[in-house]
Order: sequence, then structure tokens, then C-alpha cells
Amino acid sequence: MNVAKVIVDVPSAAIDQTFDYEIPERFMDILTPGMRVIVPFGPRKIMGFVVQITDQSSFNKLKPILEVLDLVPVLTEELLNLGRWLANETLSLSINALQVMLPQVLKSKYKKEIVRSTEENLPLELEDLFQGRDVIPFEEFENSPLTYNQLKKAVDAGDVSIDYVVQSRITKKYITMVAPLKEIHLLEEALQDLPKSAKKQRAIIEYFIEQPEEISQKLLLSKLQTTSSTIKSLVEKGLIETYRKEVYRNPYDDDAIERTAPLTLNAEQQSAIEPILESIENEKHEVFLLHGVTGSGKTEVYLQAIQEVINKGQEAIVLVPEISLTPQMVNRFKSRFGKSVAVMHSALSAGEKFDEWRKIQRREVQVVVGARSAIFSPFENLGIIIIDEEHENSYKQEEQPRYHARDVAIERGKNNSIPVILGSATPTLESFARASKGVYKLATLKNRTNNKPMPEVITVDMREELHAGNRTMFSRLLMDKTRNCLEKGEQIVLLLNRRGYSTFIMCRDCGHVKECPHCDIALTYHKNNQTLKCHYCSYEELVPHSCTECSSDSIRYFGTGTQRVEEALAQIIPEARVIRMDVDTTRKKGAHEKLLRDFAEKKGDILLGTQMIAKGLDFENVTLVGVLTADSMLHIPDFRSSEKTFQLLTQVSGRAGRHELTGEVIVQTYTPEHYSIELASKYNFEEFYKKEMAMRRAFQYPPYYYLALITITHPNQVVVVQSAQQMVKQLQQIVQPGSIILGPTPSPIPRIKDRYRYQCMIKYKHEPNLRKNIQAVMNYFKDQIQKNDLQIIVDMQPYQMM
Ligand code: ADP
Ligand code: ZN
Ligand code: ZN
Repeated sequence: MNVAKVIVDVPSAAIDQTFDYEIPERFMDILTPGMRVIVPFGPRKIMGFVVQITDQSSFNKLKPILEVLDLVPVLTEELLNLGRWLANETLSLSINALQVMLPQVLKSKYKKEIVRSTEENLPLELEDLFQGRDVIPFEEFENSPLTYNQLKKAVDAGDVSIDYVVQSRITKKYITMVAPLKEIHLLEEALQDLPKSAKKQRAIIEYFIEQPEEISQKLLLSKLQTTSSTIKSLVEKGLIETYRKEVYRNPYDDDAIERTAPLTLNAEQQSAIEPILESIENEKHEVFLLHGVTGSGKTEVYLQAIQEVINKGQEAIVLVPEISLTPQMVNRFKSRFGKSVAVMHSALSAGEKFDEWRKIQRREVQVVVGARSAIFSPFENLGIIIIDEEHENSYKQEEQPRYHARDVAIERGKNNSIPVILGSATPTLESFARASKGVYKLATLKNRTNNKPMPEVITVDMREELHAGNRTMFSRLLMDKTRNCLEKGEQIVLLLNRRGYSTFIMCRDCGHVKECPHCDIALTYHKNNQTLKCHYCSYEELVPHSCTECSSDSIRYFGTGTQRVEEALAQIIPEARVIRMDVDTTRKKGAHEKLLRDFAEKKGDILLGTQMIAKGLDFENVTLVGVLTADSMLHIPDFRSSEKTFQLLTQVSGRAGRHELTGEVIVQTYTPEHYSIELASKYNFEEFYKKEMAMRRAFQYPPYYYLALITITHPNQVVVVQSAQQMVKQLQQIVQPGSIILGPTPSPIPRIKDRYRYQCMIKYKHEPNLRKNIQAVMNYFKDQIQKNDLQIIVDMQPYQMM
């Protein structure tokens, strides 16, 4: 008997195991692990992943697999193993761990089609099926006498391919290509024979003598100002050919990118890259921490390490934070490696992402540049993994499976015996501590490649501004410098250190703040449509005219959102053209890029925005960076708030004076004496590291301790409190003597979507069985979870304390 072990798509802890199914005769030769299938499950038909094929089952009677969804596995063997590791490491369901590795198109139910991908004749049975069409619904194959084996052969031969219909649009695009059929000397002979009057035909032949390569018909016609009938007559003469070719939807215009050659590395870069190259050469897993200030040439080191990997016939994954995945960044890779680069970016449409993923699956590219989930790229011959800006929070996924891309990278690095490079100007304390202990290898780039000093940072004490009678949000120094810049025609970046814009409304008479009725959090004021919105549950209501508590009509808007800064700027410096970048102005696809382009083309004097403007941008003409509220992050209840403040200030300072012009940074703060602000203004990472490590040691936080955060939620507050107390009791029995359990306490946001939230935290140094033990505790609550709507969320190594 042939048996497939399948992980089914039912996200429930009770079903988190493999199920055995019989493999029917017709799927016998084609089914391999990593393919998706449809199986009967109770009364339903559901999707599942085949994880193993065997000939044994402890059950006598098995239900058969009903359908096979893929003819080529969507998960490689390495990824299947990684999925097992991931589920265990993050205490997630196996199905979630497998799903997270795939592009969206493969997760939902899309209609399938078979697409002809050759102009040549297909095998007869297939021609019968296609009956002259280019695309047919998959069901027609299922209802035909053709076998899966025959179809798979045609797929493997590249004659047809299976496609998924996304939004009723065929995911693939074809264009007509033209190419010479004869060698150059034969084309030259043919040119002699062509009559002088056949100017257009001659032009085409001359073109191909110059460039004997394929070209799209459209491009050729426009280049030579001719028509398709000219091409046709040359095809009839047997000199050139035309054929259809699949093109990928490409959001980046590859042909327009100029290629760059490797730069000669400076001494610092050279000593940084040498051990990396050795590790590539010796196929040895090592983690390198590349600590280098912005502009010190880290990216060039990445590029040359990747080149080495490509030369060895291997592949590379490069992770960059979502927000710095700008065309500028992508082009640095495309200009070095051309079409060998795929880009995985959340701003791409589902179809575009699928195209990029398929290029990887088909080995058409050797390099992936992408955000967090690109770490799951299905390469089978990985040679290096690079994580740029390794300190970025966006590498942690905040839903199941709650993984950190850095941990996944290191796991894949181990499995493949390859180096992993973590790069940053402001590494996390965790990584720097490991590097200091020799667990990671540290390489330091101290100087900018252009040998320019980092811009000078001046801190302005906003308390003194207030004493001097300045009640605006701009210090006098910042305004003077801004005016000065404007006069010289230079540009300014203004950072509002705050997520989104958190303007809330408050009654002046009774102090009532309008909160979400379903979550314990203030509603956010949206000026453009006069609404209040909850950012946790999307609840929204119109702005009231009077206070709902006391009926007073003096309602005030609080907080300093980017919109308010913009308005205030317009009053103080009306002549400045301001480009505002925040969640609101960048919601539309492509808006982010457009605003940046406008700024680069000097259509604005001031770029005003939230965190999203702090990273990766490189504008020649920016000489002044202003940080309006440097300390606003320091008050967030999060043990990393000092670290995050230091990182952000360092990063935004790096935006000024990157080129010929000298830059300056003005940091406005109410706490200039805070070490994170003071040391960031001196670019003193080492000192900050020492101070912050001392804090972490004193308060028992990472990297001295590991953390596990357990959040318990339920619609009834009493149930939550009771369960949380039970939870802590259970945990106390499982942890080692040196470990610490905090809580239960209400979560920082005590209620979201009408569910009350309590949490407890485990701090530990050594708990080899912690995952297994937590799993056992979860089991203890199994009934309550299944029958009583209790929810328990476990976050190993949490980044968000909310
Ligand atoms: P980082 O990634 O550390 O911010 P980059 O790699 O972007 O630094 O380098 C900053 C600038 O220096 C870029 O314009 C880059 O082209 C240039 N650069 C990097 N390495 C060299 C080198 N060895 N010689 C000359 N210029 C270099
Ligand atoms: Zn009131
Ligand atoms: Zn809400």
C-alpha cells in the first residue's frame, strides 16, 4: 500500500499532526513530498501538504487522496524540515509553519489552468485537449482520459505549465520575440542579396548583424520604425524567426538599469570580506556581524560576497527591511547581477510576487532581495544569507508563526553549511553581545568610504525653549537653520519620532478621552474625513461635536501628528514646500516611491515624516536633518525603548551630508541628558552598548535572559484573570530554579476586540525543555481553549510587549 502522510489545513491544536492517506494508482508515480493535495477530512474536502511518502500505516483502512494540486513540489525537502523546526521553535501549528513559506497565490483557492508554453507541436493527446487554444481550464484535463503522468511529463518538458488565475486575470504574460536564424556571415550575404529598395528589411538585418540577440517585436518595431509585415517577409525568407515567450510582470525596468562593476575594496572592507570568502570557500557555517556606520560600504561587501557565491554556482538570499526595499536599494543589486535578481516585496501584487517566487523555484535567478518572508526562498543550493539592518523590528513576525528571520537564517545557514552575514550601523544588543563573546565573528567598518565625518549633531533642550517663551514645536535654532537651508536651495528632512500620527481628542472640561468601545485604547483622529478610528480593530465613528460624557463642546485635538506639523510649518515658513510621508499619504500602491522621487527631483524643500523616512534614503542635496521629538519613544513601556531611540537617531543622522555638501543634525528633546540621546549624538555605539548592557543586567532582560511572553485572552474578564493565575501556577512547576516568572498582569492594552488580555512573562537563562513544557501546560488548558473560547498566545523572544 502506498501511504502519504499529510498535514491538513485545519488550524487547530487538536489536529496538529500528520494524517495517513492512500495514494490512488493514478497519482502513484507523480506524488512527492512537498506537494499540495486535496483530501477528505470528516465531511469536508480540504487542502494538505504531503510531508512523507511511505508504505506503512498503523491504520487498516485509509481514505484516498482526491486531487493533487501541484505537479512540481512547492516546498523543497529542506523547507519541509525547516517547517518542522519552525513549528517547534515558535510553538506554532505545523500547517501555519508550512503556509508561511509560500506566496499568497498558493495559499488561497485559485482556479487552475493549463497554459501552452511552446509553439511547437504538443504530444497528440495534449493537442486533442487544447484543440488549438492557448489556455484551458484544469478541469478539462481532469475530465479527459489523460493521466497525471502524461501531464507531468509535458510540464517537466516545458511544453505546458500549470497556472493559477489571480483575480480573474491570467497570471502569465506572453510577448512575441524576434531573433536571427542565421549566423552573422550568412546574414551579411543575405544583405547583399536584398534589393536596395527593401530599406526596412535591410534595416532589420543590419540590426541583427550588430546585435545577434533576441529582442521583443514591439521594441524592434519602435526602434527601426517599421511594421510587422516587414518582419513577416524576413521570416518567410528564413532569415529570422518569431516566437512567443513568457514574460514576468516586472515592476522594475531591468533594461534601463546600468550595470556596475565591483569596486576596489578599501582596507577595512578587505579585512571584513576575507573571513567571509573563506567561509564560502570552505562551506562552513559561521555568523558574521558586520558593524559599520552608514556609508561605510557594507553593501559593497555584500555584493562581492554574493558574486563569489554565484561564481561557485550557488545562490544568495538578501533580506532588507520592508521600508528600505526602495527602487534605489533594489537597483544596487540589479545593477550588479542584472536579471539574476528576484525581488520579494509586500508592495507587489499577488501575481507579481508569485512571478518572483517562480523565478526562484525554476532556478532562473541566483539572488533574492526581499523583506522578511524571502528567508523562505526555495533555493536548493544556497551559498550565503545576508540580513541588512539586522536590528530592524520588522524581521519579527507578529502573528503565528512568531518567528524572527534572523533565527531562521541561522538555522538555514547551519543546514546548508554556509555563512550568514548580519549587517548594521546599530546592531542589536543580542547580536553584539554574541559577537563580543566570539559566538559571531565581528567585522567593523569605522569610516565612511568617502572619508567624510558623520554630520554634527546638536541637541536642543525644549524645556529652555519653553522658558524663553517659544511654545511652538520648532526650536529657534531649527527654524533658523531651516530658513538658511531654503535660502541656499538645499533640502531638509524632518522626522517626527512617532508611529503613524496619534492625534486623539480630549474634552477640555472633564478630561474625557474618546476610546474605542471594543479596545482599551484611544481612538485616532483622522482629519481628512473627520473620523475617529481604532487602529486595532478598525472601529470608526464620526468626530463628535460635543463631549459624550459632559456635553461640553470644547473638544481639543491632542498629540502632534505629521498633519499638525505640516500645518504649523505652513504658518511659520509659508514659502517652504513640504512633502509629507506617513501612513496616510503612502497608503496607495506606489505612493511611497512617488513622494521620494518628487523629493529627489527637488519638487519639495522639506521631507516631513515618521520612522519611514529614517532609513536607507540617500539624497545629495539634504544638508539638514531635524528630529522634532527625540524622546517620545523613551516612554513606551518596552525594555528596548532606549535601544530603539539610539538606533533611530543614529539612522536619521546618517541621512544628512552623504555627498559633497556637509550636513547637520538638530535633535529636539526634553531629556538631553538621557544616555541614548547623548550617545547617539556622538555616534558612540560602544559606550551605549556598555551602558545599556548594564541596564539589561540590572533589570534581567535580554541578552542576559531569554524571554517568553504568554498572553491569555477571553471575552470575560473573570475567566481571563482566573486562567492567567492558573497559568502562572502551572509555569512555576515547570521552570528551572533560576528562571523568573512575572505576572499575571493586564497587557499594556488590556482589551482588544472585546477580549480581555492578561500576560505573564518567563525570563530564563537555561531551559532546555521549555518548549515541551509550555506545550504541556497548553494541553492543560485544552478543554478551555476548545470549548470555552480561551486563547493563549505564546511568543518566544517577543519584540512587542503589547
Ligand atoms: P553602507 O551599506 O554601509 O551604508 P554603501 O555600501 O552604501 O554603505 O557605500 C556607501 C557609498 O560608498 C556608496 O555610494 C558606494 O558606492 C561607495 N563605496 C562603497 N565601497 C567603496 C569602495 N571600496 N570604493 C569606493 N566607493 C565605495
Ligand atoms: Zn467632557
Ligand atoms: Zn478597537
